[in-house]
Amino acid sequence: MDSLVRASLAFRRLVRAGSGFAVTCGLAAYVVLGGATAPITALTVVLGLLWAVLLGKRLRAKLRLTGDAPFLLDFELGALLAVGLDAMLLRYDGTLSGRFSPAIFVLVALVASFGRPAPGLAVVGWVVGLDALIRWKTLGEPSLEALVTQAGFACAFAMLNLALLRAEVARIRVTARARVEREIERLREDARSYRLLGAGEASGSAKKEDAEERLARSSVEEIHQSVHYALELLRRCLDLHTAVLLWRNDAGTHLRISELSTGSDEIHDAPFSIGDGVLAAVIAKKEAVLLENLRPSYKVPYYAGACPVRALAAIPVVEDGVVRGVLALDRVDNRPFTPHEHELAAQAARYCLRAIQNERVFVQLERAKVEQGKLYRAAQALGAALSEKDVLEAGVRAAREIASFDLAAVTIFDEATRTHEVCAAQSEGGEIDDLVGQRFKHNAGLVSMVVTNKFPLPYKGELDTAHQVVLTKRLPWPNLPSLLVLPLMHHDRPLGTLILGARRRHAFGDTVRPTLEVLASHLAVSLSNARMVHKLETMATTDGLTGLFNKRAMLDAAAQKVAAAKRFGRPLSVLVTDIDFFKKVNDTYGHDVGDVVIKGLGDILKRQKRTTDVVARFGGEEFVILCEQTDEQGAHQLAERIREELGKTVFHSTNGSLTVTCSVGAATFPAAGATWDELFKSADEALYVSKRTGRNRTTVWSPSSVARIKAG
Ligand code: GH3
Ligand code: MG
Ligand code: MG
Repeated sequence: MDSLVRASLAFRRLVRAGSGFAVTCGLAAYVVLGGATAPITALTVVLGLLWAVLLGKRLRAKLRLTGDAPFLLDFELGALLAVGLDAMLLRYDGTLSGRFSPAIFVLVALVASFGRPAPGLAVVGWVVGLDALIRWKTLGEPSLEALVTQAGFACAFAMLNLALLRAEVARIRVTARARVEREIERLREDARSYRLLGAGEASGSAKKEDAEERLARSSVEEIHQSVHYALELLRRCLDLHTAVLLWRNDAGTHLRISELSTGSDEIHDAPFSIGDGVLAAVIAKKEAVLLENLRPSYKVPYYAGACPVRALAAIPVVEDGVVRGVLALDRVDNRPFTPHEHELAAQAARYCLRAIQNERVFVQLERAKVEQGKLYRAAQALGAALSEKDVLEAGVRAAREIASFDLAAVTIFDEATRTHEVCAAQSEGGEIDDLVGQRFKHNAGLVSMVVTNKFPLPYKGELDTAHQVVLTKRLPWPNLPSLLVLPLMHHDRPLGTLILGARRRHAFGDTVRPTLEVLASHLAVSLSNARMVHKLETMATTDGLTGLFNKRAMLDAAAQKVAAAKRFGRPLSVLVTDIDFFKKVNDTYGHDVGDVVIKGLGDILKRQKRTTDVVARFGGEEFVILCEQTDEQGAHQLAERIREELGKTVFHSTNGSLTVTCSVGAATFPAAGATWDELFKSADEALYVSKRTGRNRTTVWSPSSVARIKAG
């Protein structure tokens, strides 16, 4: 059924797609069979209408398409037009070689221009084939020569059109792209000359570049509008020929028209050296120059040909004692500039400078806003991360928003041992991933120096592998040109470093370094907090002397284990150990030796326990062991192993060597109790039995074992 439906769907699709072509073939057959030369009948009219309707539909589809048309659509259009044209030629000329026969070449050229090459060539084939059939079948003149000529011309028209048109399109594309690139470059140059962008500023990602470019573009446009307005006003008020603001390029070597208002069409819009003509004097003396009686031979650098003006005023635009540009005003009539006009011009120059300075401040504020946004997001992400791993991940992610890099690592410095440890390393190609966990001594490498000096290194963000070591000689760092090691400062104490490396040169320039430094300090605070949280958690659950669980942690674990044992009907055993005559040990050897003994028993328990067992120091010299899936027999075996090993262990002290023994009580769920409290009570009772019956022994709780002692 399914395949039937699919087959019928496929058939319908085929019919829908091929119906137009089938009708075209039908119409072509009608023409070939003499329909166009026979007297007009109702069928001729109907078929003519059918042709017109189909052509109309296909044309509409073609015009509605925005991209390339499908092959069949272009081909059908060409084929339909060819059939129609051949029918007309046959009806009105009676032959294909009449006065209007070249119309077919026009058709071929048309199809080749508007379609892709493949349908264009298919249409040429169709035209030639149809032509041959008509000559042979309809007209009965199978002249091979005429056919070859026809085919040759059709191909030539199609090819020429195709080649010329494509070449022209490619040429237009190239010039348009070059123009856009020139515009962008000019905009960048303007932005740099107005100090909106740093010299050779390298932004990080493409996204960042886009944002920077948009910001610079809007600022440059804003400056041009303000300056143009001032120049236009000056030109009208002072009856000027040209009012132009010339601005020095970033390097300061050339002047270029920044904005102008002029009545001249002989403007020379190319940079010229600051040493050229009258402007050199303005720049050198930082003073206005007012000229009159100028001759046509006088060279004014912003005019292309002979000097069209007689009077000129050039006012320096001075910023921080440096001439940044020149405001030039000129007049065609020889009317010198009055002091009042000069003053107006000087004010206009200051206005232009202020427009640029305002935009510079705006760009800086805008940038600061963006950077602050990033830091805010970073702080939020870092604040939300509680574990050290999450903090490191959030930190590296946040750094990625600020600068683009290929490698990132974090080292932590341990002041007590004066060693560094790589605690995180990330790289796209996995070059540094195996550094995680590596430790190295404080040395003369960059990481150690950053920790010592509390200052980012290398100074310029460039790595020189010939002379610089990043971690230590034993742990080579990939040879990438850009590197930045930032100290993770917390309360003026270096916790470690954040290391970033990039394949791109100048990846860590002045635009990103300050923000990365702030991020590093956020990272340091969060890292320190995460470590503190971890420490508190450990302290809350661990016994300081043995490193085993404390009573609280054991009670948490016990509740879960008892619940699981109940649920799955599994045995669960509790062992309680207590060192025999421990008071005596303390009294004889001192408390410190007592502690060593407690620790020694802790180590034995760690060794003897299985991974699923939980061991805790319950207080004093008492330990509790919780063993999953362990029945009375298993509990007894474990208790005996522990007891025997402790008995064999010799402890050393200044007062001589000593050995101790312990007593153990064990109880197993469910026989000895259905809850933790009951179980523990039973184990404690069993321990009591061990103590009462001579110590240095194990008692497994059973109603009889406990009852006997209780009775006694
Ligand atoms: P018994 O065989 O009946 O257990 O005799 P015992 O002397 O061991 O008696 P008990 O278990 O009641 O003694 C506990 C002693 O352990 C009391 C205390 O002096 C000592 N103790 C408790 N906590 C510590 C500790 O942290 N370090 C040291 N060195 N001794 C401790
Ligand atoms: Mg005790
Ligand atoms: Mg004891």
